[in-house]
Amino acid sequence: MSEKKIPYKIYLTEDELPSSWYNLRADMKNKPAPLLNPGTGKPLTAEELSPIFCEELVKQELDNDTAYIEIPQEIRDFYKMYRPSPLVRAYCLEEKLKTPAKIYYKFEGNNTSGSHKLNSAIAQAYYAKKQGLKGVTTETGAGQWGTALSMACSYFDLDCKVYMVKVSYEQKPFRREVMRTYGASVVPSPSETTEVGKKILAEHPGTTGSLGCAISEAVEVATKNPGYRYVLGSVLNQVLLHQSVIGLETKAALDKYGIKPDIVIGCAGGGSNLGGLIAPFMGEKLRGEADYRILAVEPASCPSFTRGKFAYDFCDTGMICPLAKMYTLGSSFIPSANHAGGLRFHGMSPVLSQLYHDGFMEAVSVEQTSVFEAAEQFARVEGILPAPESSHAIRAAIDEAIKCRESGEEKTIVFGLTGTGYFDLVAYQKFHDGEMTDVIPTDEELAESFAKLPKVDA
Ligand SMILES: *Cc1c(COP(=O)(O)O)cnc(C)c1O
Repeated sequence: MSEKKIPYKIYLTEDELPSSWYNLRADMKNKPAPLLNPGTGKPLTAEELSPIFCEELVKQELDNDTAYIEIPQEIRDFYKMYRPSPLVRAYCLEEKLKTPAKIYYKFEGNNTSGSHKLNSAIAQAYYAKKQGLKGVTTETGAGQWGTALSMACSYFDLDCKVYMVKVSYEQKPFRREVMRTYGASVVPSPSETTEVGKKILAEHPGTTGSLGCAISEAVEVATKNPGYRYVLGSVLNQVLLHQSVIGLETKAALDKYGIKPDIVIGCAGGGSNLGGLIAPFMGEKLRGEADYRILAVEPASCPSFTRGKFAYDFCDTGMICPLAKMYTLGSSFIPSANHAGGLRFHGMSPVLSQLYHDGFMEAVSVEQTSVFEAAEQFARVEGILPAPESSHAIRAAIDEAIKCRESGEEKTIVFGLTGTGYFDLVAYQKFHDGEMTDVIPTDEELAESFAKLPKVDA
C-alpha cells in the first residue's frame, strides 16, 4: 500500500454515508432456506407473515433478489445523529501486542443503547409507524436490543412492550431503567402475563429464562393485540439487511485509503452484526471479485456454528414461531446461567448459516474467561470498555494478531466492536474476583436437545 499515513480514525462525510442497504442474498447462489409454517411445513407466504411483522418488513424478509434497497430519508436522518460510527486503527493495541498486523475496528457503541442494534431498531419502528400501528412487542436478552427499540419507538411515538430474559432483568436493573426512561414497559420472562409463559413456568419452575422463551411471549402478545406487531433484533434476513450499514461504512472508509482487509472478524449471537459487517466483503467474494477470510466468533457455552446442526428448527422455546433452517443447538437448549457473555441464542441467521454451510466463512468458539482477558487487555490500551459480546471478536482478533507476530505476516485485520460494557460490570466483577468459570455443554446435553428438533423433510 502507498505510504499514506492512516489516521487513528477514518471518517466519512455525510455525503459519503450509504443511501441504500445492501441485501447479500441477491448475490448468493444458494439462497437461505425459506421460513416454514410450523403447522403445514410449507414456506410462509407474505399473507401468513403479516399478522406478525409489518408489511414492508415482510417484503424485505422475503426479498432474495434486490441487491440495494434505499434507506428512507427519515431513517437516514436518524442515522446521522450517531453515524458514521468510527472506524479506528488500533495502533495502541498493535504496539502492545508487538504485532506487524494492522488492526482496525468498527465501533458501534457510540450511541445511548450502546450497541449496533439501534441500526435495525430505528428501521423497524419507522415501518411500524408508517403502517399506522399502535406499538410493537419484543424480547431482549442482555437488554441492548430492548434499549435500542425503546429509543426508536419513543422517536416515532410508538408503544413498546419488552419481554426481558429474567436473569438479565435481575442482573441488569439499570438497563431496565434506561428502557423505562424511553417509555417502554419491561416484563421479566418467562412471565404469568402470557399463555406460553405460564406453560414454560409450569414445566421449568425457577427457570432464569432464555431468549427463546421471551420471543414466544412477545409474539403471543403481538398477535393477540390489534395494532401491534412483533419485532426481532437479530437472526432475521431483514435485520441483517439493516445492519449492512455497518459493513458499507467500513468498506467505504477502507476504500478511501486503498486498504483491503485479509480477515474480517465478528462476534456471532444471532448473526446480525456479523452479517452486516461482512455484507459488502462477502458480496465481492460471492461475485468472485475479491477474497477475504471471514470469521465468526461464538461462545463455547452456546456454540451454534461449531457444534450445532444445520436443520430446520423453531426460533423460540415455546415452538410457536416459524421454522428457520439454521445452525442450531435445538430450541430447547438453554445456555448455563453462569455464562455472562451474551450471545445466548440457540440458533443462527439463516443467511450466515447457508454461507457457513457452503464454505464461505469460518467459525471458532472461545471460552468466556479468555474473552474477558481480551476485553481487559483491549480496554487498557484502546480506552473503550467493551461489551462481553464484542469481546469475543477482540479475542479472535488478538489471537490472529499474535499469529502474525509469530509468522511475521503483516495481515490487515478488521473486526466489529459492537458495543460498550457499562451494564455488564457484574460479569466483569466475577472475572476480577476469579469467580468466572467456563461451562461448556457436553455432547450428551446437546444430543438431548437435538433429539427434540422438529421433523421436517426440507
Ligand atoms: C446483541 C449484541 C450482539 C449479538 O447479536 P448479533 O445479532 O449476533 O449481532 C453482539 N454485541 C452486542 C454489543 C450486542 O448488543
